[in-house]
Amino acid sequence: MAEQENNSRFLARFREESQNKSKENKAFLDKLRKRPPANLDDITSALHDEVFTRINCLNCANCCKTTSPIVIDRDIDRIARRLKIKPSALIEQYLKLDEDGDYVFTQAPCPFLMPDNYCMIYDDRPRACREYPHTNRKRFHQILKLTWHNTLVCPAVLEVVEGLKAKILR
Ligand code: SF4
Ligand code: SF4
Repeated sequence: MAEQENNSRFLARFREESQNKSKENKAFLDKLRKRPPANLDDITSALHDEVFTRINCLNCANCCKTTSPIVIDRDIDRIARRLKIKPSALIEQYLKLDEDGDYVFTQAPCPFLMPDNYCMIYDDRPRACREYPHTNRKRFHQILKLTWHNTLVCPAVLEVVEGLKAKILR
């Protein structure tokens, strides 16, 4: 119970801070997109590793609570196998098409998120869940718009962007 309260306070603080910094972060990431440094991937990946030594996703799960990953055909087949249902039944029960024609979960929080923030289908979760929040991928400069959106969802992304500002604007 105390842990849940701490987690709620952590997320409430994050929401306030991310909103307060939203405009500044957008301007910074727009500028970075136009002139990314050659070593941006290395800087970002090092920040990612450092930030995730301090942030434990099990105390957060804000991505699973507030947004849906894109669920591709291979994910659908794998998750359906895991649940021992047909892919068509998985689609009917849990998925809908978004405005871009991609499958996403019908609801947030995710139907597979458990009360202790564990993922019920962790080993078979969608590829997008494995790759989130994308701060250790190659060609990071290509996803700076998405990264700005993610500063409003993921406390780790907010910290990575703070780290980038400190290193690049210095
Ligand atoms: S990836 Fe980000 S939003 Fe998702 S649980 Fe981890 S810290 Fe929270
Ligand atoms: S499938 Fe698992 S990791 Fe992905 S959003 Fe749902 S609970 Fe989170």
